[in-house]
Amino acid sequence: MKGSLFLGRVFNVAIKVHWTFLLIIAWVSFLELKRGGNVQNVLMSIFFVLLVFICVVLHEFGHILTARKFGVSTKKITLLPIGGIASMDTIPENPKEELLISLAGPAVNIVIALLLVLFIPFELLVGQNSSYMDSNLSHVTIENLVLYLFSTNVILALFNFIPAFPMDGGRIFRALLALRMDRVKATSIATGLGEIIAFVFLLIGALYNPFLILIALFIYFGATSENKMVQQLALIKGHSVKEAMLTKITVLKPDNTIGDVIDILLKSTEKNFIVVEDSKIIGILHHQDILSKSKNKDLRIKDIMDISFASIDAAEELKEVFVLMNTKKKDFFAVTSNNELVGAIDLPNISEFILIQSNLITR
Ligand SMILES: [Zn+2]
Repeated sequence: MKGSLFLGRVFNVAIKVHWTFLLIIAWVSFLELKRGGNVQNVLMSIFFVLLVFICVVLHEFGHILTARKFGVSTKKITLLPIGGIASMDTIPENPKEELLISLAGPAVNIVIALLLVLFIPFELLVGQNSSYMDSNLSHVTIENLVLYLFSTNVILALFNFIPAFPMDGGRIFRALLALRMDRVKATSIATGLGEIIAFVFLLIGALYNPFLILIALFIYFGATSENKMVQQLALIKGHSVKEAMLTKITVLKPDNTIGDVIDILLKSTEKNFIVVEDSKIIGILHHQDILSKSKNKDLRIKDIMDISFASIDAAEELKEVFVLMNTKKKDFFAVTSNNELVGAIDLPNISEFILIQSNLITR
């Protein structure tokens, strides 16, 4: 995510905080001042927010370390005002695995809450009248910090159990459905419920709390895009790269110039190219690089081609390549068979293949 500050690396996961996180600091400071708090109250509130975000990071590690047990790696956690987002490489299709991974996050908050219970100064609370409670609990203080953290962790656990896909509760709901029915159907039911809850959050948010509006949008867009992805993956499941690859491709030589490539670019719909020397693939020329160097028509392509490319075997599952393209953000690969170039595969062509498959099924 753009505009994120790298904080450090824990268990080989990069922890980043998005600049919009500053909004939450500004927001709690504003609320504290509005309630008549002094500088010390404001600093205490900010300290509390930082502690809460440590709890959020621990929650994410609950997901990440459980996912790691099932072979799913995670590159980074991004902290946003609405919570943490762990960027996992994939989401396991096995419902039992997804269930455990999703439960592990809120479970961390429950464990934290249970540990904090031991340190709550109950003697401060028991037998006190309501005006004492008002004056001593209206601001975060050293005395009531543990109580605040305890209740926040309980709220975090409960909030995450709301079955709004793709929030944890929604994933738990999808996984439970998928234990008894097809995963595509389970996802679409979970998405439907997620959208309804997003709408309710939007209404409540508009009336009481702007952060709920952000969460509503996150749920709505997250649910619809993941639902689409699941449907698409189901359509290409069992198909090989060979079935969807481009075979009419122009192969370039390392001494071709940018001028030559621009000619081909304008005459055809090809955008990325494979560079071959002595019938061996030596590089990929990306559309973006052609455009950025287009002024320099005499430039040899061997000087700007991407030599850190990976080729895909024609027999490979199309689904794997589709996932790879979505996670690695590389959208063009050379396709080989017995180490010989046989074609290329790109995202638009897989999308085309998905469209054809969906029409075959619905007609
Ligand atoms: Zn979670």
